Amino acid sequence: MKKLLPTSTAGSLPKPSWLAQPETLWSPWKLQDEELVDGKQDALRLSLQEQQQAGIDIVSDGEQTRQHFVTTFIEHLDGVDFEKRETVRIRNRYDASVPTVFGPVSRQKSVFVEDARFLRQQTQQPIKWALPGPMTMIDTLYDAHYKSREKLAWEFAKILNQEARELEAAGVDIIQFDEPAFNVFFDEVNDWGIATLERAIEGLKCETAIHICYGYGIKANTDWKKTLGSEWRQYEEIFPKLQKSNIDIISLECQNSRVPMELLELIRGKKVMVGAIDVASNTIETPEEVANTLRKALQYVDADKLCPCTNCGMAPLSRRVANAKLNALSAGADIVRRELLG
Ligand SMILES: [Zn+2]
Repeated sequence: MKKLLPTSTAGSLPKPSWLAQPETLWSPWKLQDEELVDGKQDALRLSLQEQQQAGIDIVSDGEQTRQHFVTTFIEHLDGVDFEKRETVRIRNRYDASVPTVFGPVSRQKSVFVEDARFLRQQTQQPIKWALPGPMTMIDTLYDAHYKSREKLAWEFAKILNQEARELEAAGVDIIQFDEPAFNVFFDEVNDWGIATLERAIEGLKCETAIHICYGYGIKANTDWKKTLGSEWRQYEEIFPKLQKSNIDIISLECQNSRVPMELLELIRGKKVMVGAIDVASNTIETPEEVANTLRKALQYVDADKLCPCTNCGMAPLSRRVANAKLNALSAGADIVRRELLG
């Protein structure tokens, strides 16, 4: 990654309408069996091509092979019963019916490694792969076995480390852990959340990232944001400890969010994926708006450590809007890149 300001996306991108219902989060598959396997691979190729055409430098699978950023991973684990459901409060924000942990959790075989290998075959560009983080995983389950959020998080961290090592061996350049829960449970993050994350990346030689955001543009999240006041200072609670952690890259939300940019000073020294595209709005950013956000971030992030990115995943947007936003991201990054290179 020698290019200055290499662009990337936080995660998911829209799926084609023949694979899943468009503009719907966690939409069920429209295909089955072999057709579904082929359909997911075709969608991955398409998503990659759309990122390439938009000039994105660090590409991903656009999460075309998964329905949900957390549960698709958990579905592949032992110890979790998806039939036995309980209603819990997710991130203190909304109720959801979730699966039950009934026994020791374990991973019998890899979850995403085949998909990652497939992506690796399609491109020479750096590739990033997203996994859920331990704390966000436990927050999406009812635990009837360990009866301890911390214990279950450590178990998931071990499992994530197994998966991450295999993803690295498959040629993934950056492994990202999605931890929106880090924006909610500050005490736990500082007590054991960051430690479990470090357990998940133990022994990895590839780069590692954590994505912390204010969520997709769904109603529960936009309602929550309205309660956060004029300044969103959540990152302030966890950045000092994250700055000292072994994680290489921090991915966060800066476009149209009320996060005071100076909070980035707290993670000085880390690479930062600066969200310069709002995923909760269909309005396409102008390249100049993107450039403005990046310029502000550059006051606190060294230029060789800044990756222009999206605020979060774009799965719920239309493909037209998502592609236009990717183009704006590239064009905005290009403006600032030229300024920096004089
Ligand atoms: Zn996000």
